[in-house]
Amino acid sequence: MQIEEVIIVRQNDSFVALLILEVHMSENANASSAPNQSVEINAPIKKRRILLKMSGEALMGDSAFGIDPATCAAFAKEVKEVYDSGIEVCLVIGGGNIFRGISGAAQGMERATADYMGMLATIMNALAVQNALETIGVPTRVQSAIQVSSICEPYIRRRAQRHMEKGRVVIFAAGVGSPFFTTDTGAALRAAEMGCEALYKGTSVDGVYSADPKKDPNATRYDNLSYTEVLQKNLRIMDATAISLMRENAIPIIVFNIREKDRLKQVINGQGICTTICGK
Ligand code: UDP
Repeated sequence: MQIEEVIIVRQNDSFVALLILEVHMSENANASSAPNQSVEINAPIKKRRILLKMSGEALMGDSAFGIDPATCAAFAKEVKEVYDSGIEVCLVIGGGNIFRGISGAAQGMERATADYMGMLATIMNALAVQNALETIGVPTRVQSAIQVSSICEPYIRRRAQRHMEKGRVVIFAAGVGSPFFTTDTGAALRAAEMGCEALYKGTSVDGVYSADPKKDPNATRYDNLSYTEVLQKNLRIMDATAISLMRENAIPIIVFNIREKDRLKQVINGQGICTTICGK
């Protein structure tokens, strides 16, 4: 018996693999039987699922603040290509293009209040990306870690799982829903909760460098790093809470330049310039 063909079909809102098996009958088999028979077996297949984290600044384009519609549309197109290739996509977008709690605190605001404003900024970005994705035909849901029930769903893990099984991109807004955290930690938490194979962190440089490449011409890029090296070298690509959470759950982090056209697709296919963080 050998597999002749594998067809992926959608059945009851989930994907199954239809295996067409060729069964070779013995030469003494009943003459009325066909020498070869095709048997169909339904076997559920596991789709790839990734979490893509992008900083709010990546939505600014060349502006100094806010959301640039053309940049947002270009990002949505990149996500669509990944989605169209059959990969389940979770998205987390920061809020630094609008408001960062730490900046508010530096100007005299109470830190927790400033952080809640930062979380609201991430919801605005999530809605902008939702709009850009749905404009090009990608079904989405926004789930927020703080309740804003008039505009999006609250975060409910099992509901998010179901959305993804139904072929929707889920955008997780408001980080972990508490002040004193970042959207990197929110992304790490959701990646673990949703069982993502990897966390792709889109930045404005093409990986993790020994120093800031925009300031230090001698800065070198790492191809690979362990979670512990990132923490020990204090490389600040993500906050320590996020790195620790990824280390505990052994989820690789791939850092790449989201501003480069097609780079997202390349790194997801194991190509393109990036830094991979994995291993103790
Ligand atoms: N924030 C928060 N808790 C969270 C996630 C975000 O308080 O779980 C606030 C915090 O003030 C942060 C702001 O939201 O500065 C925007 O998020 P972040 O700085 O992570 O955005 P990014 O740098 O990725 O654009």
